[in-house]
Amino acid sequence: MKVDKTLSLKYNLLIKSKLTTVNIIAMTNKDTENHQRKENTMDLNTQVCIVGAGPGGALLGYLLAAQGVSVILLERHGHIDKEFRGEHLNAVGERILRQHGLYEQVRREGLLHMERVEYFQDGQIIKTILPGPGEEHTGIHVPQKNLLHVLLGQSLKFPNYRLMMDTTVTDLIRDPVDHQVTGVRVRYDGEELTIHSRLVIGADGRYSTVRKLAGIQATIIKHGFDLLWARIPAPDGWPPTVRMALAQEAQLALFTQQGGYIQIGWNIPQDTYPQLRKSPVDPFAEALIHAFPQLQVTVQEHIRSWNDFVLLKVQSCVCDTWVQPGLVIMGDAAHTFSPTGAIGVNSAMQDAHVLAPLLLEALAADDVSSERLGVFEQLRRQETADELDSQFTREAGFRDQFPAYRS
Ligand SMILES: Cc1cc2nc3c(=O)[nH]c(=O)nc-3n(C[C@H](O)[C@H](O)[C@H](O)COP(=O)(O)OP(=O)(O)OC[C@H]3O[C@@H](n4cnc5c(N)ncnc54)[C@H](O)[C@@H]3O)c2cc1C
Repeated sequence: MKVDKTLSLKYNLLIKSKLTTVNIIAMTNKDTENHQRKENTMDLNTQVCIVGAGPGGALLGYLLAAQGVSVILLERHGHIDKEFRGEHLNAVGERILRQHGLYEQVRREGLLHMERVEYFQDGQIIKTILPGPGEEHTGIHVPQKNLLHVLLGQSLKFPNYRLMMDTTVTDLIRDPVDHQVTGVRVRYDGEELTIHSRLVIGADGRYSTVRKLAGIQATIIKHGFDLLWARIPAPDGWPPTVRMALAQEAQLALFTQQGGYIQIGWNIPQDTYPQLRKSPVDPFAEALIHAFPQLQVTVQEHIRSWNDFVLLKVQSCVCDTWVQPGLVIMGDAAHTFSPTGAIGVNSAMQDAHVLAPLLLEALAADDVSSERLGVFEQLRRQETADELDSQFTREAGFRDQFPAYRS
C-alpha cells in the first residue's frame, strides 16, 4: 500500500504487514480530507461515521465505501491482532463473504475448514457430525486478524474511506433543536476531534460506548456460566475438528485453529473464577486429559497455571431499541450472544449486509429518521431473538449429548 511521506505521521496511512501480523498505526489521506483546525480542535465531515472496527463495523465500512459513500471508521485500538475473539464462521458468514467477493481473499490470508464435529466420552468418540449433502465442512476457522486485514485492506483502496486507529469515541453530538445525532467527539493522541456525520453507527461491541451515550437501555442476560479460553499447539496429525466433551460436569470444547493450534473453551459456573484460581490448576488439566487422552503431553507442557487461561464473562443482551434519529447500533452493541454455536461474528456480519443497502437508501432520500432506520431493526431483531433462544436450548441440552450422563 502506498505511503505518501510528505504527509505528517498523524494523518498518514501506514500499514505494516508481517506475515499474518498487521499493525495499522495511523490513518487518512489529507487529499481526501475535509477538515479545518479550530483552536485546538480538528473538525472532520463524513456521510457515515462507524464506531468500532470489529467484523461488523469493518464489513459495513467496506460495503458503504464500495458504493461511493464517504466513511470514517474509528477504532480505539492501535492494532487488530485480537486473540480469543469470535473466529468461527458458519454458513451465514461464509455466504456473505462469498456474495461480496471477499471469501477468496480471506482464504488466501489463512483459514481452516472443519471436517467434522465429534463428541467424546471417557476418551472415546460417541457421536460424529459430518458435513451435510453438498457441504464441504462443518464450519470455518478464520483468525479474526485475517478477516479484519482483508476487510480493512480492501476498504482502504477507496479514496472516500478513512480508517482512524487509536481513536476513541467519547461523546455524541446532537442537534440542539431536534436532538438528532449529527456526529461524535473522539480522542486521538491526546487531542479532541469532532466528526460531523449524517449517520453514526455504533458497532463498538458488547460494552458499547455509543449505546450508553445514546441512553439506549440494554438488558443483560446471564447464562449461568463463564468461559475459560486457552490455546495450545495441536499435536501432529490432529485433524481439523470441533471436539466436545463433558468434563467436571461442564462443557469442554476443542476448536482446531488455522496455524496449528487448538483453542480450548471450558464452561465454568458463573462468577466462580476468582475462587477457582485459589485452587491448583492440576485437577483441571487432568480432567482435560481424561476427556482427550491424545492431548496428555501437550497439556502437561502448556497448561501449567491459571495464567494460561483467559476468562470470558458470558452474558448476552437485549436492547430496547437499535435506532435513534441519525443513529444505529449493530452487532454485539445491539445484541450480544453467548459463545454457544459461535454466532457472534456471523451475526455482526449479517447486520452489516442487511444494513448497508438501507443506509444507502436513507442517504439518497436524505432521511435518517428513526422510522426509516427502524427497518433494519424490523428485519433483524426477530432473527437475533431466535438465535439467542436457540443458544439457551443448546446450552440446556448439552448434557443430553452424552448417554452416560443423561438425567
Ligand atoms: C473474549 C471473547 C471471546 C469470544 N469468542 C467468541 C467465539 O468463540 N465465537 C463467536 O462467535 N463469538 C465470540 N465472541 C464474540 C465475537 O467476538 C463478537 O460477537 C463479534 O466480534 C462481534 O462483532 P462486532 O463487530 O459487533 O463487535 P466487536 O468485534 O466487539 O468490535 C467492536 C470494536 O469496537 C471497538 N471500540 C469499542 N469501544 C470503542 C470506542 N469508544 N471508540 C472506538 N472504538 C471502540 C473495539 O475496540 C472493537 O474493536 C467472543 C468475544 C470475546 C470478547
